[in-house]
Amino acid sequence: MRFICFFIGALLLLFSVDTSASPPPSGGQIRYLNHLGRKYVYLTDVARYYGMRCRIGDKQASVNSKYSEILFTYEKTEGMLNGTKVYYLHPPFLRNGDVFISEHDFLKFIDPVLRGHALPRHRMYTILLDPGHGGKDEGGKGRSYREKNLVLRLAHKVKFLLERKGYKVKLTRDGDQFVSLIKRGEMTKELNADVFVSIHANIAGTASVSGIETFALPPSGVPSTHGSSRNDWEPGNKFDPNNSRLGYEIKKPS
Ligand SMILES: [Zn+2]
Repeated sequence: MRFICFFIGALLLLFSVDTSASPPPSGGQIRYLNHLGRKYVYLTDVARYYGMRCRIGDKQASVNSKYSEILFTYEKTEGMLNGTKVYYLHPPFLRNGDVFISEHDFLKFIDPVLRGHALPRHRMYTILLDPGHGGKDEGGKGRSYREKNLVLRLAHKVKFLLERKGYKVKLTRDGDQFVSLIKRGEMTKELNADVFVSIHANIAGTASVSGIETFALPPSGVPSTHGSSRNDWEPGNKFDPNNSRLGYEIKKPS
């Protein structure tokens, strides 16, 4: 039996001002370590910055407070952030009793979630929803459904809900027509969209698979969880902290 699950790929696009992540509130110095050509930070220093407790175990480390809990497993990107399964940008590791996480994860993923109030503010008025596939590109095929039709119906429902909240919402396709990936990207500029969200309904080969998965544009130079290639700089990378936060908000339990 085939089973279907939804994923929503979210990426924010260019507009507004520069958005490099602001440093966290001062609570001591953050020490750095160079490892495999990139910068890592001491987890104990990060915990102290946020006034959180840090526990270091043999295989995992956690940082927690009354409000938040973050779990890291050494040498693995999979972790938990406030009860939501997440994938860090680089695997954390244990060395000589200290735990290290990448600076990218600290500044562009964890900080935007823990300190939403410190996120750079951007205009968010026009949202471009992108129902995947269409026309000759049917997407996933079940016994009685096609992904292209499911995601179009879903996009119309999301459009209706967002418009009720006062957003201006456009679709990359309004019917069963083929639209190239390049054209979908170009429409963000043509329509002056502030946010681009692509909606898909993936099919897995087993009924045990279900749920939502969310992809956000990775920071420049960071490999995607979808593959090993590095992500070159894209206009949407101006909004790295906001991209991470939006992906987390879509994914976390409501
Ligand atoms: Zn799809």
